[in-house]
Amino acid sequence: MLTVERLSASYGPVRALDSVSLSAAEGEITAVLGANGAGKTTLLRTISGLVRPSDGHVRLGGRDLSRVSTEDLPALGLAHVPEGRGVLAELTVEENLRLGALGARGRVTTADLRRIYDLFPVLADRKNGLAHVLSGGERQMLVIGRALLSRPKVLLLDEPSLGLAPRIVARIFGLLRGLVHDEGLAVVLVEQNARSALSIADHGVVLNLGRVVVRRDAAALVADDALRHAYLGF
Ligand code: ATP
Repeated sequence: MLTVERLSASYGPVRALDSVSLSAAEGEITAVLGANGAGKTTLLRTISGLVRPSDGHVRLGGRDLSRVSTEDLPALGLAHVPEGRGVLAELTVEENLRLGALGARGRVTTADLRRIYDLFPVLADRKNGLAHVLSGGERQMLVIGRALLSRPKVLLLDEPSLGLAPRIVARIFGLLRGLVHDEGLAVVLVEQNARSALSIADHGVVLNLGRVVVRRDAAALVADDALRHAYLGF
């Protein structure tokens, strides 16, 4: 579905990504792990064309994305939820959902919204409330829901667990696992919270200084004490 081949990117003299390859398949979650500054965010930003690669390719369903502009990616099936949970605070939850999907498909139907509200009932409860009163977890659900409105085939998620209580992380990750299973979505999940990410992931890729240093099935990575201690801190 999504393949990243020998992708490299730099910020001036800083080489943030160094020949990174990975793939994300339908119905699977690939966790991208690693310490601060390992290059995880840069990887997602380069996949979605926000950072220009110095080398390598990104393909979606066989199509090379280097000639596709970032605005056109949702229509091709790629959605990116950046870190930070950016919402339009003075608009309602439903207005955020409607506006967020505009670029991708033009019009949001009642059925589209119902699908998101079924997934995240708390958003239905709060649909007429202003986004700025949402808790961190609810905000995270809103940005994921907004991304899902474009009916992506591939979802890039950057640090969804950051700053959330473990109970809320478990809830959001459980929903994500269900979604991937039910809808055959391919997810690239960037996380510093390796333990939680690997609990729902199929594969784990560890980055260090912009390079892939480990690539394993998630279960095998969790079972390997030496690797966990060396790279994942749990
Ligand atoms: P974090 O978890 O802290 O977000 P990360 O694994 O996502 O870390 P990146 O943010 O991709 O890592 O950063 C990779 C490298 O690129 C780091 O050395 C970082 O300092 C550098 N970097 C990131 N963004 C920029 C930028 N806009 N300008 C210059 N250097 C940058």
